[in-house]
This record gives sequence, structure tokens and C-alpha cells, in this order.
Amino acid sequence: MAGEPKYQGGFQQLVTKIIASYVSHHNVSPEQIPELISSVHRTFDGLGKPAEPQGALIPAVPLRRSVQRDAVVCLECGWKGKMLRRHLSTRHGLTGEQYLKRWNLPSDHPLTAPTYSEQRSSLARELGLGRGGRQARPAAAPAVAEEAPRPRRGRPRGGARAGA
Ligand SMILES: [Zn+2]
Repeated sequence: MAGEPKYQGGFQQLVTKIIASYVSHHNVSPEQIPELISSVHRTFDGLGKPAEPQGALIPAVPLRRSVQRDAVVCLECGWKGKMLRRHLSTRHGLTGEQYLKRWNLPSDHPLTAPTYSEQRSSLARELGLGRGGRQARPAAAPAVAEEAPRPRRGRPRGGARAGA
């Protein structure tokens, strides 16, 4: 008895107890008993399904559809747009992190439409090259700069020694 699984043996015992108790306290005709048993079973079946999340958080759209190529969808209200962060803070008072936690989403869950982030990064690259012409050059410059000073240093020293 000790090794008996909780849900199987215990379940049947509990149902039997409830029905026996009910029958002993009420006038139940034999015809009503099957109905009573199925009713108790149905109740237990319902209790045996606590799979529903506790806060009863139901996303406005299925999680799979919350991220699309050119848009992200708010699980709170179904809002669809390119950037979710701004919407979350203005509409729901949530930061991106709070939103991810709330819906049990991974930290890399996109809050910006994938194609939009691509456009932004390529746009940033273009702007970076256009505005930061001065900044873009130094990256390539060091290779040249290293080579250039050497001959200059070599000449004056060599010249000074030769002169002395
Ligand atoms: Zn929303």
C-alpha cells in the first residue's frame, strides 16, 4: 500500500469515499448512482488539469505568430508594428524585460521586426560612413601609419650619427 501511486489508487478510493458518503447522507435511488459517479469523475478530471497558467495569461495572438518578418505582435493586446518596446512602455507601462518575463519569453525574443532591424543596421552603416567619414578612415589608417613613420625615424637618426 505504501508504494501505491498517489493518483491512481488514491483517486479511486477518494471517488468511492465521496460517493459512499453522499449515498449514506442522501436518499439516492440506484438509478442515480451511475450519474453520481460520472459526475464525481468529471469533477476530478477537471481538477486534474491544472495546466492552465495561474494568472490565466492568454496571449492576444499565438506565440508563433507574435514574430513575423516585417512586424512583431504585442501579446498583451495584439498590436502589430515594427518596434514593440515603445508600444509596451506607452500602452502597457512595461519595459521590454518585464514583457519578456511576464510571458516567459527567452531574452533573445525579438521585440523589433527582423527586417526592420536589418534595415536599421544597414541604414546605420550607411549613415555612419556618410557622416563619420573621419571616423571611418582611422580604421584603415593604422596599417599605413605604422609603415610611414619608420623610414622617417630611420633617416634623422642615421643622419645625426653620420654627422657626429
Ligand atoms: Zn499591446
